[in-house]
Amino acid sequence: MSSLKGVGPRLAERLARLRLGSVQDLLFHLPLRYEDRGTVVPIGSLRPASFALIDGRVELAEVVRGRRPRLLVRVSDGTGQLTLLFFHFYASQINQFRRGTRIRAFGEVRPGMATLSMTHPDYRLGEADPAAEESGLVPVYPATEGLNQTQLRRLLRSALELAGEPGALPDLLPPALREQHGFPTLLEALRYIHAPPPDAPLHAILDGSHPAVRRLAFEELLGHHLSLRRLRQQLQERARAPELAVESALVARFRAALPFRLTGAQERVDSELANDLARPQAMLRLVQGDVGSGKTVVAAMAALRAVEAGWQAAVMAPTELLAEQHHRNFSQWLAPLGVEVAWLSGRLGTRQREEALTAVASGRAMVAVGTHALFQEAVQFQRLGLVIVDEQHRFGVHQRLALREKGERDGVQPHQLIMTATPIPRTLAMTAYADLDVSVIDELPPGRTPVTTVAVSAGRREEVIERVRTACAEGRQAYWVCTLIEESELLEAQAAEATAERLTEALPELRVGLVHGRLKNADKEAIMAAFARGELDLLVATTVIEVGVDVPNASLMIIENAERLGLAQLHQLRGRVGRGAVASSCVLMYQPPLSATAKLRLGIMRETNDGFEIAQRDLELRGPGEFLGTRQTGELRYRTADLVRDAHLLPLVQRAAQQLLREQPAAVQPLIDRWVGHGERYAQV
Ligand code: ADP
Ligand code: MG
Repeated sequence: MSSLKGVGPRLAERLARLRLGSVQDLLFHLPLRYEDRGTVVPIGSLRPASFALIDGRVELAEVVRGRRPRLLVRVSDGTGQLTLLFFHFYASQINQFRRGTRIRAFGEVRPGMATLSMTHPDYRLGEADPAAEESGLVPVYPATEGLNQTQLRRLLRSALELAGEPGALPDLLPPALREQHGFPTLLEALRYIHAPPPDAPLHAILDGSHPAVRRLAFEELLGHHLSLRRLRQQLQERARAPELAVESALVARFRAALPFRLTGAQERVDSELANDLARPQAMLRLVQGDVGSGKTVVAAMAALRAVEAGWQAAVMAPTELLAEQHHRNFSQWLAPLGVEVAWLSGRLGTRQREEALTAVASGRAMVAVGTHALFQEAVQFQRLGLVIVDEQHRFGVHQRLALREKGERDGVQPHQLIMTATPIPRTLAMTAYADLDVSVIDELPPGRTPVTTVAVSAGRREEVIERVRTACAEGRQAYWVCTLIEESELLEAQAAEATAERLTEALPELRVGLVHGRLKNADKEAIMAAFARGELDLLVATTVIEVGVDVPNASLMIIENAERLGLAQLHQLRGRVGRGAVASSCVLMYQPPLSATAKLRLGIMRETNDGFEIAQRDLELRGPGEFLGTRQTGELRYRTADLVRDAHLLPLVQRAAQQLLREQPAAVQPLIDRWVGHGERYAQV
């Protein structure tokens, strides 16, 4: 930065606030918008709230005394009059504005007392000297206190000059790649964006469709993508993974015992996993599948392949409840095959916990199920060969990488299978999960009917209660989900209790159950089990039922205060119905008035049942950082790219990355260094 003229420690500190620490950072600090200073607007056709350049003559100038003294300059160009206002001025300044003096002024047009006005415009007096003027399209940058547009523009002009010196800013995209996509060179792109020609298509620059902007976004996405692929490569090279046979007698027996046939998608993903597991490099695969698509069965088969070869498998879930469900499923399926499943719950007593840990350490229990938190503590495996992570978006790249390193022992690395319940748009998966292979279970088990969704104002509660009555009279079952804004289990539980009481009164003929997070595990399980057996008609619940219950006869889902929940959670909840052959429906009850985004969210839920579609819309609404829950880590903060705007570039980026790694490996590291930095972002791994 010090190579730029006039940048001392104070300015450097202000630049640092904008995360601008080098000349290159400055160059990638792109304008928010542009001001057109090339076109003179007649005063008579000025419109308030726009920026404009006017050219006229001074009619009068006076200092108005008062609480806030101001200098007022009336200007006219024959089409109308405009008042320029200065609150900060020198006494002598008034003398500049002699009647009849030519003046050009640029600023924001605002309504005024007698005429439109401009406050503190940029202005120039006297006959025009074109060379000395800022003209044409002038960029406006993200700025900060103590660092104004004039300074930023000056800094950028010097930065561009420096960049123009030979070798100062190498173009890291190979020419062939550039030509293939019709991209300008880096320097051309930067010059175009920071100093566009007067006729530049501004909307194309600002919406990212202009080749100059596309080129920058492409290069940045490529840098990030390459860095993830490289990390993955390095991890895989460092340690070998157990080679597990594709054919497995345990898997065959497991399949024979299942009460259903696997779907085509499950078969396909199973063989993708089997192939990965047979290789000496650690598998790193993400299995995406909508709610109810049957990911658990597929995970169980992978675990059995490990067990058959004498390796242990760990199954991790993000919540205790989900871990419980996995434990139940795995025990049910594996115990008959003689495979012991250890349960590492946070709620175990010391004795039970010791026992479970011993079973895992001795290798007696070949499969262990627990929460992520538990596995981060000192669980010793005898011989860990496979880690299954049910992550539900809660894991970032860093955490995944850390987990991989932890699993490594004596030069052996376990395979990793990651399952996500909420689908991630394909495009985003390529970036967020570039360190993983991706499999998709894109088919639901047969016999499921799509859920009809309606949004109903809370004022129509009585009607909703009647719906519950009718459904249950037909022998169906229903859920009633209560939600609260606060993340308080206690308040939520109380609200659910009150709701259950009122519903019991309104529906005396129904058997009503209640589950919430404050209940003892055994009680919660007993109630859910009763509901599953059909001994309860209506289950009032907090959002704890998001995961964990599977009752095909339940055909009605009521979600109270649905406007408070995000799309992912709504989709998860709705996934609890529509699991059988009966037509199911979901009622989203809301408290009016709805905010604009809440309205959009409920509309999306009514329009589609497709988890991938919902995820895509969710991404558009929330942006990638919030979507992936990585906002705090800064993991997905880009300088020039925008994952939503530039999503269409991602397949091109992926292809280019493969090509570079294969044909021009020397071009890879400089791209990573430029956009990701020298390993700083992955320092914590
Ligand atoms: P998710 O992908 O949401 O984790 P699960 O694995 O919990 O889905 O499966 C949902 C339900 O569907 C479970 O009851 C499971 O036993 C059942 N299931 C899984 N695969 C099939 C299939 N091929 N045919 C019928 N039912 C299936
Ligand atoms: Mg699941």
